Amino acid sequence: MSERIQDILSRWQASIGLEVHVELTSLETKLLCGCTLSRNAEPNTHVCPVCLGLPGALPVANREAVLAVARTGLALGCAVERRSTFWRKHYFYPDMAKNFQTTQGPVAICMGGSVEVELDAETARERPDAPTLRPAPDGGYVTRIRIRRIHLEEDAAKMVHVGGAEGRIAGATHSLIDYNRAGTPLMELVCEPDLRTPAEARRLVEHLRQTLLALGVSDCSLEAGSLRVDANVSLARAHAPELGTKCEMKNLNSLKSLHDALAFEVRRQAALLDAGKAVRQQTRHWEPTSRRTIALRTKEAFDDYRLFPDPDLPPILISDDVVERLRASLPELPAEKSARYVSQLGLRRREARMIAADPALASLFEAALAVTPETPATPEAPATPARDLATTVANVIVNLRPAHGCLAAAQVRSIAQLLHDEALTFAQARDVIDAVAPTGEDPARYVDAHGLRQNSDREELASVVDDVLARSEDQVAQYRAGNTKVVGHLIGQCMREAGAAGNPKLFSALLRERLDAQGA
Ligand code: ADP
Ligand code: ZN
Ligand code: MG
Repeated sequence: MSERIQDILSRWQASIGLEVHVELTSLETKLLCGCTLSRNAEPNTHVCPVCLGLPGALPVANREAVLAVARTGLALGCAVERRSTFWRKHYFYPDMAKNFQTTQGPVAICMGGSVEVELDAETARERPDAPTLRPAPDGGYVTRIRIRRIHLEEDAAKMVHVGGAEGRIAGATHSLIDYNRAGTPLMELVCEPDLRTPAEARRLVEHLRQTLLALGVSDCSLEAGSLRVDANVSLARAHAPELGTKCEMKNLNSLKSLHDALAFEVRRQAALLDAGKAVRQQTRHWEPTSRRTIALRTKEAFDDYRLFPDPDLPPILISDDVVERLRASLPELPAEKSARYVSQLGLRRREARMIAADPALASLFEAALAVTPETPATPEAPATPARDLATTVANVIVNLRPAHGCLAAAQVRSIAQLLHDEALTFAQARDVIDAVAPTGEDPARYVDAHGLRQNSDREELASVVDDVLARSEDQVAQYRAGNTKVVGHLIGQCMREAGAAGNPKLFSALLRERLDAQGA
C-alpha cells in the first residue's frame, strides 16, 4: 500500500513549477511569415522560404501574436515590457530547418505576474500549511502562484516516426516531417515553483485554460496539443533555505497525466530522500500505461543553446497607448464573472463557476436571461423575478445539457420558464430538450403540441383534492390511524380526476396539508 501524498507532504515540501506552451490558435498566420496556420491541411502545403529555413529568407514578426501575448499578460497581472527582443536558441534536429528556434531572451513581452487559484477543501487537505492560506468563500483556500514571464516563440515542424511501436523513434524504419506546423506562434508561460501539490498544479492549468479561453487567444486543447504542459518538481524540507533538485516531465497531454505524473514523482523522490539518496536532475517521461516516469536524459551540465539576439528581427516595441488599449479591451474574466453571478444573480457557487469557466456556456446563459419573453408580463402573470429565473436558467444549462445538438438561448429561456411555472418536471424537461435541441423548436410549443404541460394551478388542483377527499372517507380514516401509505393511492385518484396533467408533487403537498389539518 503506498503512502498517501498528504503524509509524504507533511515530511517533504514539494515545489512544482509549470511551463505551459499555448498555440495561438486564434491567429491566421505564422509567427515569422505569411503562411496560413492550418492544422488539417495536406503535409507541407503551408510553407515558404522563411518557415522552411532557407538561407537568406527574412522573417517579419506577426503583430497580432505580440498583441495576444501582451493581452494575456495583462489579464494575468504581468507587466508588459515596452521593449523586448527575439533570440535564437540553437539546436540540431530535423524539425527545425534553421537549426535555431526563434524565441525570446531574458526580457520577454510579459514579466512578473501572478494568479490566484482557489483550492477546494479536498485539494487543500493535501497541503499541510493550508490553514495559513487565505480562506475561500466556500470552505477551501486561495493560493497565489507567481508567473515569471510569458514569451513568444515559434513551434517546430511535426515529425512522424513510421514503422516502430506507438510512433516512437526507437525501432522506426523512417521519419516524415510536416513543416506546416513550423513557425506556428506559441506563447510560453513560465510559472515560479509556488505550487505545493499535484492537485494544485492541475487547478492552475484549469485556471489558466479558462482565462485563455475567455481571452479567446487559443482553443487550449490538451488532447489536440494546443496547450502543452511541462512540469518541474522537487522536494525539500519545509523552510529549507533552498529548493531541492528538480526533475522535469515534458508534454503532459491531459490533466490526469499531469496530476498522476507529479504524484508518482513526489513518491519516487521522497523514497530516494527517505533512503538518504540524492535526486538526480533529469528530464523524465510519463508513461500512462505503466503509470510511472522513466528517465530520458540526465542534465549533467548546462544545455548549450548558444542563445543570442536575432539580428534579423527588430525589437518588439509596445507603446503605452497600445498597453492601455489592450487593458481596456480585456473581457470579464471567469473569476470575476462567477463572483458576479453569485452576488448579483443569486446563483450557487458551483453553477456560477461552471458557467463562467466556459465562454460558450456563459454567453448562452447571458443571452437566455436577455431574451424577451413572447408573452409580456401582466398583473395576473407577473414576470419571473430575475434572480429566480437566473437560478433556473443556470440549472438548465448545467444540469440539462442535450444529448445531441445544442440549445438556442430562447429555448433555454423557455425551458426555464416552464420549469419555473412547474409546467414540466425535471425529468420531462430532459426529454423535451432532447426533442427540441436538434430541431430548434420552441419548447413551450412542443410541450403543448404533445400534451405534456403539467397543471400546477394551485386553486384548480386544490378543488380536485377536496373532491377526492370528500369521497374517500375510508382512506382518510386509515391515514389518521397512521397508515400514511394511502397518500399514494389518493394522488392516483387526483391524477385520474385531473386527466393526468396534474402536478403530482403539488397534489401530494395539498393532500398532506389537508389530511394533517383534519387529523389535528
Ligand atoms: P532551467 O534553468 O532548468 O530551465 P528554470 O529556472 O528556467 O530552470 O525553471 C524552469 C521551470 O522549472 C520553471 O517553471 C520553474 O518554476 C521550475 N523550477 C525551477 N527550479 C525548480 C525547483 N528546484 N523545483 C521545482 N521547480 C523548479
Ligand atoms: Zn512560411
Ligand atoms: Mg529554463
